[in-house]
Amino acid sequence: AKKNDRSGWSFYETYMQKEALAKMVLRNNLRYAIERGELSLKYQPQVAAGTRAIVGFEALLRWDSAEHGPVSPAAFIPIAEQSGLIYDIGAWVLREACSFARRLALNGHEDIMIAINVSAKQLAADDFIDLVRNTLADTGIKPSQVELEITESLLMNSLEDARGKLNELRSMGIRLALDDFGTGFSSLTYLWNLPVNTLKIDKSFIDLILYDAAKAKIVSTIIHMAHDFDMLVVAEGVEQEQQLCYLNENCCDLIQGYYISKPVSETEAINMLGNH
Ligand code: C2E
Ligand code: CA
Ligand code: CA
Ligand code: CA
Repeated sequence: AKKNDRSGWSFYETYMQKEALAKMVLRNNLRYAIERGELSLKYQPQVAAGTRAIVGFEALLRWDSAEHGPVSPAAFIPIAEQSGLIYDIGAWVLREACSFARRLALNGHEDIMIAINVSAKQLAADDFIDLVRNTLADTGIKPSQVELEITESLLMNSLEDARGKLNELRSMGIRLALDDFGTGFSSLTYLWNLPVNTLKIDKSFIDLILYDAAKAKIVSTIIHMAHDFDMLVVAEGVEQEQQLCYLNENCCDLIQGYYISKPVSETEAINMLGNH
């Protein structure tokens, strides 16, 4: 038994080493992803719950690595955050998404919103506001075409610093969305004090609509509370008709999810608008 314990331990040790090594290799390749042109954005439509007209798109980052093939953002965003690469990557995402918004405006779609994910470290950086201001100026888009998505866990870490920055972004005319709502532990009273335009209900709650009719009540409660605070409500991860019906009946404003469309390329996104 002793022998097994020891080999069990050494297996665990090698497993840890392999994990760390894999992360290191990933990080080293991520360092060159921008200049190698391996990053791209996909755009997932957000539609009105009633009419299903496209109101905006969320920009979602993709990394197609020469070394590793496609890597999920859930895997590489945390590495980018830990290593500080998120500053360059985040700036690239911002510029790319705003350029897309510019091309939409030139095509007569200047009312289509582009939602951009912002990570904790990015918002915390001293030059974040300047970065946003410069990117808007360079691309020449209306600030109201941009919605920055931030998660509640991010805000809770340094609420006072975040609140000041969010107010400044709002005063520039940029829209703000609270992402993954319901997954954190933050108190609602804090959240209602934040200058946020949109609340995105996390997929785990949208799933309840299918699997637990009683708990689905939570979703309608969140929608009505958000409306009391004049927020727009987006349901994310909508995969089935039944969910869309429930959300529409309970006054949810916007729908996002595979039931409407997966994230698509810029060309496909523009084609989808042409059909509306
Ligand atoms: P998120 O912001 O919550 O984005 C929603 C995720 O759910 C996306 O995964 C999207 O493709 C996926 N999704 C959308 N509809 C459905 C559906 O109906 N069913 C299911 N099962 N999934 C759906 P993705 O693209 O893999 O991104 C994962 C996460 O990576 C994002 O979660 C976000 O936190 C982060 N991320 C993506 N792009 C960026 C970025 O440019 N910057 C930063 N900081 N984070 C990003
Ligand atoms: Ca998001
Ligand atoms: Ca989300
Ligand atoms: Ca999420």
